[in-house]
Amino acid sequence: MSFSALQKAYSDHSRVWELNHWVYPVISRRAGGLSIGINLNLDKSCSFRCAYCQVDRTIPGKSLALDLNLLEQEILSLIEEYKKNGLTGFSNFKEIAEEKRLIRDICLSGDGESTLVPEFKEVCQLMLKIQKQFREYPLQLTLITNATHLQFPKVREGLSLLTSFRGEIWGKLDAGTDAWFRQINGSSMSLEVIQNNLEMTVKDFPMQIQTMLCKIGENFPSQVEIDAYLKRLEKIYYAGKENFKGVQLYGVVRQTALDTVSALPKDFLENVAEQIRNSLPVCVNVF
Ligand code: SF4
Repeated sequence: MSFSALQKAYSDHSRVWELNHWVYPVISRRAGGLSIGINLNLDKSCSFRCAYCQVDRTIPGKSLALDLNLLEQEILSLIEEYKKNGLTGFSNFKEIAEEKRLIRDICLSGDGESTLVPEFKEVCQLMLKIQKQFREYPLQLTLITNATHLQFPKVREGLSLLTSFRGEIWGKLDAGTDAWFRQINGSSMSLEVIQNNLEMTVKDFPMQIQTMLCKIGENFPSQVEIDAYLKRLEKIYYAGKENFKGVQLYGVVRQTALDTVSALPKDFLENVAEQIRNSLPVCVNVF
């Protein structure tokens, strides 16, 4: 397998797989292998408008009611296909080394915010059922979330199911100040809501923090911004250090919907990672 084949597979996060509506396979750097992705937001609904989002919202999404039975069938058929052929039929996957194709997780990550979907709890229940059904695979259940709705009781019931065996919440914290928060996440809500939700969540459930570091036009996070971010991270860590599983810093590697967004040098990310490691005893990964 060539390096470029792996890079190509990492950057292929197309959510269209054969005739599926909600389920797609992806080689994920963060999961360290093959991830079964679930996109609950075919209509592209999201409570953020991140500057770096890859979803092009100038093209309307599909309006299709979620069918839990069909969703289950889509997940099962993907796992069956994996068992039979290791998904070698999928466009980029045949060039990928077998160890990179090992199935790692089922992940709620789509063209919007999964927790906005009314059936969120039922989807978590279904994921747990499938995780139990395929005990031969060490499947982790993962929710990637922007944390805007983690305070709602029905969402928390879903989180409880999702994390009851081997599951994690990957919550977004991209800013330390409201000013950068508004620029990077395009939200009019207060950053304090996100902070409270992340603190409340890490008290009860295993969680990692995901942070995007990028340039927007000529702007990028100043040291004042990074210091404010570190303070927020510290508060989250001390709200539930047993459940705090680490920090993922990531930069722009794929095409973003806005062309004003660009990548920062890898050194910048490594420097922020070092500052986090110097202030907290946590695992920090740079992607
Ligand atoms: S939270 Fe995710 S889906 Fe929503 S705008 Fe941001 S990057 Fe896009």
